[in-house]
Order: sequence, then C-alpha cells, then structure tokens
Amino acid sequence: MTDAAERKMRFLYALRSRGVTDPAVLSAMERIDRGLFVKGLFAERAYEDTPLPIACGQTISQPSVVGLMTQALNVGPRDKVLEIGTGSGYQAAILSQLARRVYTVERHRRLVREAQEVFDALDLTNITAIVADGSRGLPEQAPFDRIIVTAAAEDPPGPLLAQLREGGIMVLPVGQSDAVQSLIRVTRTASGYDYEELRPVRFVPLVEGLGQD
Ligand code: SAH
Repeated sequence: MTDAAERKMRFLYALRSRGVTDPAVLSAMERIDRGLFVKGLFAERAYEDTPLPIACGQTISQPSVVGLMTQALNVGPRDKVLEIGTGSGYQAAILSQLARRVYTVERHRRLVREAQEVFDALDLTNITAIVADGSRGLPEQAPFDRIIVTAAAEDPPGPLLAQLREGGIMVLPVGQSDAVQSLIRVTRTASGYDYEELRPVRFVPLVEGLGQD
C-alpha cells in the first residue's frame, strides 16, 4: 500500500472508532483531503485526529468532531445549509458533498479568501463563502434546512434560531468560551424548539463584528 493510501485508511479508522459511522459522512471525508486546508508547518499533521492552528489565530476542528457534527446535522441532498465560521473551509467542503448548497460565513477576510482558493481548486461550485458577522445569520438567504455553528456562543443566537426552517436542525457548541462547552442539537418544530445535548467540545469563541484581516 502507498503511504497516502495507508494514511487515509488510518484517518478513516480513527473516525469510525470515535463514532463517525454514517456511510455518507465517511465517504465525504474520504473524498475531501484535509491536507489541502492546513498550511505550512502543520500540514504534515493534517491526518491526525487533532485540531490545528490556521491563520488569524483560529483553528481547524478535529476531524472526528467535524464528522460527529456533520452526522448530527443529518444533511440531505436537497438541503440548503448555513455554516457560521468558515475557518479553513474544511467543514464547508465536507458539507458540499452532502447538501444542495452551502453558505458559509466568516468574520476574517483572509480566511474566506484562502478557503475560496481551495474550493476553486476542488471545483466545489455549490459553496458560497461570505465575509460577515455570522452571529446575525444570513437573513437574505433564510430560511435554512440546516445550520451549523463552529464557534461557541453562550446561548444559541436568536437570529440563527429565527432563520431555521420548521423541521430544520441546527448543531452548535454553547457555553463559556474559555471552558469546555456543550455540543447541542436544536430541532425547530411547529410549536417551538427541541434541545438535545450531544457531548462536551471545545471551540474558539463566536465574536461579534468583523475581524481586522
Ligand atoms: N469550520 C472551521 C473551523 C472554524 S474555527 C473549519 O472547518 O476549519 C471558528 C471560526 O469561526 C473562526 O475562523 C472564527 O474567525 C469564526 N468566527 C468567530 N466568530 C464569528 C462570527 N461572529 N461570524 C463569522 N465567523 C466567526
């Protein structure tokens, strides 16, 4: 077996052993090479199940957390998905394999530019990456079938709850930004919202306003 094939096999094995079992999610994660989303010194660690630093003091999430969040989101081929926190673009690229269209919002211009370069190189034409404050959601494209937030707020932001379609699902970390947070799944019903706690996680904070770079 080549080094690359063996690396991929180990990567997928680690995902499965941490509970990522949905075949569609695993196949998306097999197709999208995480190595393209990690730059410089850390690139050689792209296939480890660990978060890594990216530009603007942010992080690309741990692959098993990306897998578990994607699985919890239960995305279908007709879904319009909103992601808050583009970061490296890795999570958006995985979602692009499962959804009809992905809107991803990031407060740092530089991260959107770099993620867009990778989307172009992979010809992922169903992703729209936007520089904006994602705590307000993306009202002009609402409502969404699915919303995923990859930065932690103390509570689910009101505008995001409002932009979720009835029957829609949102997955997000909530809690104090400097502590361990809780990954929760919110389902919008005819009469309100159902909340379910999934697991402890640690994410960078959701920050209001645009970044400096
Ligand atoms: N999903 C990313 C991980 C992102 S880390 C990936 O796959 O690599 C969280 C990201 O959320 C950071 O890039 C941070 O800049 C961004 N972020 C934080 N607050 C935000 C806000 N209010 N609006 C948009 N993006 C935000």
